[in-house]
Amino acid sequence: MDDFLRDIKKAALDMSGYLTETRGYLHARPEISWREVETSKFIESELTGFGLSNIRRGFGGTESGVTADLVCSGGPCAAIRADIDALPIAEENETEYRSRNDGVMHACGHDAHIAALLGAARILSAMKSRLRGTVRFIFQPAEEIGEPSGAKAMIGEGVLEGVGAICGMHVWSFLRSGVVQWRHGPVMASSDKFTVTFAGRGGHGAVPQTAVDPIVAAADFIGALQTIVSRELNPTNPAVVTVGKISAGEAFNIIPDKAEILGTLRSFDAETRRGMEPRIARIAEGIASAYRCRAETSVQHLLPSVTNDPGITDLLREVAVDIVGSENIEESPLQMVSEDFSFYQEKIPGTFFFLGAALPDGTKYPHHSPRFAINEGVLPTGAALLAASAFALVEDLA
Ligand code: MN
Repeated sequence: MDDFLRDIKKAALDMSGYLTETRGYLHARPEISWREVETSKFIESELTGFGLSNIRRGFGGTESGVTADLVCSGGPCAAIRADIDALPIAEENETEYRSRNDGVMHACGHDAHIAALLGAARILSAMKSRLRGTVRFIFQPAEEIGEPSGAKAMIGEGVLEGVGAICGMHVWSFLRSGVVQWRHGPVMASSDKFTVTFAGRGGHGAVPQTAVDPIVAAADFIGALQTIVSRELNPTNPAVVTVGKISAGEAFNIIPDKAEILGTLRSFDAETRRGMEPRIARIAEGIASAYRCRAETSVQHLLPSVTNDPGITDLLREVAVDIVGSENIEESPLQMVSEDFSFYQEKIPGTFFFLGAALPDGTKYPHHSPRFAINEGVLPTGAALLAASAFALVEDLA
């Protein structure tokens, strides 16, 4: 195993030109969720060149998404997943590989995920005779959109059939380059969308006694809503309730018929998640009743929490120690953002880790910022981590 890891590391470093070039090529050609057609064709052509088999392109009724197998021998199969979509953001960076697609940008580093996973496929295919089992490479569309999720669609179309374990990685622009963060159990929050509608009775803004004002009820509700987190949930178990959209009214002097509030819910465990809807509904209905309105609440479940299998996490963290050194291994804090990698983990054990990719000059822009940037120098580390993880997972399953 040690020899193998050393060879993977060396192959990844030797490939740094390919990785940088590939990431730059993809960065210049970003495509939004479910429209990653050229991206997918590019991935397919690379994988074909590496000699992979069972190549499938096109999921969820689109031409996006690619899977391919490196079949080394009979036996177990492990999967490695990269997400491939970009965001509807106009890039403000001035690099030579800046986005050529107006209003679309790889502002979350998925271009780096593709490059690293292609690199891993290339490394492992060159070492095929020394490997056992099968590695399935999953290039997943539509991670950013939440719903309809690319992971859900791919799982529905059988990409996990015969797969015993899975691993995924995300570059992190705020984390020092080369640091790898791991965590047992829940690491990224579940994400749900709620809608609350207050219905009143419209009327003249100057004659409120003839109307029932839903805006006053909605305004009171927005403040009261925060008591779910501050007064009802255990403070040691993090959760977030955020109102992101309020719609009501057409003019300054008219009381409207209704007010609608949309928001997001984040939490880590199933009980907290399940308990959100009845709590929101109770507060909404209580306030509606106090103000003579009616309230309706609905919650749309989007993504479960990313929950890492402890055994697989320990196994791959040990592999990462060999790749980056123990001084670069950390425990990940809980992340309130979400990832549809969680759908794979509902089906099979898996782990999701973070690779630090902060710029060496200390400039830091958050993910989804029009100035988001990562240090390309981490690409060989990313490719080596994914290749070594695939190898370790297959050996563990064997
Ligand atoms: Mn992302």
